Amino acid sequence: MRPSRAAILAEMGLAPIWKLRARAAPAAAQEAPPRAGSGDAREAGIRAMQWPELKHEVARCTACGLHKTRTQTVFGVGDERAEWLLVGEAPGAEEDRLGEPFVGQAGKLLDNMLAALGLERGKNVYIANVLKCRPPGNRNPEPEEVARCSPFLVRQIELLQPKLIVAMGRFAAQTLLSSDASIASLRGRVHRYHGVPLVVTYHPAYLLRNLPDKAKAWADLLFARRTVAGL
Ligand code: SF4
Repeated sequence: MRPSRAAILAEMGLAPIWKLRARAAPAAAQEAPPRAGSGDAREAGIRAMQWPELKHEVARCTACGLHKTRTQTVFGVGDERAEWLLVGEAPGAEEDRLGEPFVGQAGKLLDNMLAALGLERGKNVYIANVLKCRPPGNRNPEPEEVARCSPFLVRQIELLQPKLIVAMGRFAAQTLLSSDASIASLRGRVHRYHGVPLVVTYHPAYLLRNLPDKAKAWADLLFARRTVAGL
């Protein structure tokens, strides 16, 4: 039997949190600056692709050095007509092994938080990363790797046309918003990614190491849900 929302929240240590009022009212939408460097032939080719071609292109991609150390690419998973798009940073060891984003403990936490919102991986939710290949040792992505890989995410977003993007973690937020700002300063507001509302929260892997911030992430997801409901 599927656990109740209260049970899920209790397991997450968030039982009282869902009763809290929102941290912040939706602020005026803010336009992100347009992405740079969209004009080269590779990007133009990617932007003409449909889902099957795009998946094939990612699977065979050697555009940055990460192809040398990956087990497999991690394209993304979920409902290709989803209203919710969740974007993380890059595959970790388990994701590299299994070919799916957000598996392992961080994935379980994310699934629990989605369930508490009444959402489910694969049902009106799509999950992807900025990088499709694992950085060795889970090191931070290099700017060049992000630059080479982000056209794939751009095309995923164009094909999905989500109602809302949730950027999870610093790299996802900074990449999508072309910003150097911290997560703390980006949370609690509705940003825009090429017209699509975008909210920022912590990466589930970060939350596993920083348990007190789970409550903030939960508040972010409630804020995201209110944003979707108000569209
Ligand atoms: Fe290609 Fe992205 Fe993998 Fe680099 S990280 S090889 S750009 S798919």
